[in-house]
Amino acid sequence: NSFADLKLIPELLEACQGMKFDKPTPIQAEAIPYGLEGRDIIGLAQTGSGKTAAFSIPILQALWHAQTPYFACVLAPTRELAYQIRETFDALGSGMGLRCVTIVGGMDMMDQARDLMRKPHVIVATPGRLMDHLEHTKGFSLRALKFLVMDEADRLLDMEFGPVLDKIFKIIPRERTTYLFSATMTSKIEKLQRASLTNPVRVAV
Ligand code: AMP
Repeated sequence: NSFADLKLIPELLEACQGMKFDKPTPIQAEAIPYGLEGRDIIGLAQTGSGKTAAFSIPILQALWHAQTPYFACVLAPTRELAYQIRETFDALGSGMGLRCVTIVGGMDMMDQARDLMRKPHVIVATPGRLMDHLEHTKGFSLRALKFLVMDEADRLLDMEFGPVLDKIFKIIPRERTTYLFSATMTSKIEKLQRASLTNPVRVAV
């Protein structure tokens, strides 16, 4: 049970060492192999379980092979969580020239539009502000998106982001990999799962 056993590229192994991650947490040990196989994943895990790296690592490994802009989008319920996720991506992607942006409410739209024009690989966003940019920022689209992550999906739904999520599903490619992480499994989450994931594996800790 080590990161080396997971067959990660050296850039990611070194980043894990740099972050003092000695071995994968249980959710990482379960989810990362499925992620590397290209499966859609439902992760039942709390904050503190290491779920952020569990979804970031397979995305970064796929990105390393593809190197294309607007590769992944991570949706989070709050600005604070979005910034935390961004930090994890930046740290894990430090050896591979990762460009990551945070797109959240309350910040300047023009600054964010400029950041989006720099062709980031990963966008970490709150759903409402992402939708604002999809509707109003010329030249920005998610047509090339390969990965969608919904983190803390139970809180996304509690915060009434459901209708925005439905809009986002309609304008991103069907051919993509989707991860849904939630602390709880409810009928609303199951409905969201059916609307957005394809033949997912379920991992829980
Ligand atoms: P998360 O559940 O993603 O919010 O992560 C909780 C904390 O655990 C963060 O501070 C991470 O940096 C840390 N962490 C994540 N994975 C590992 C690991 N494999 N070994 C040690 N710490 C970790």
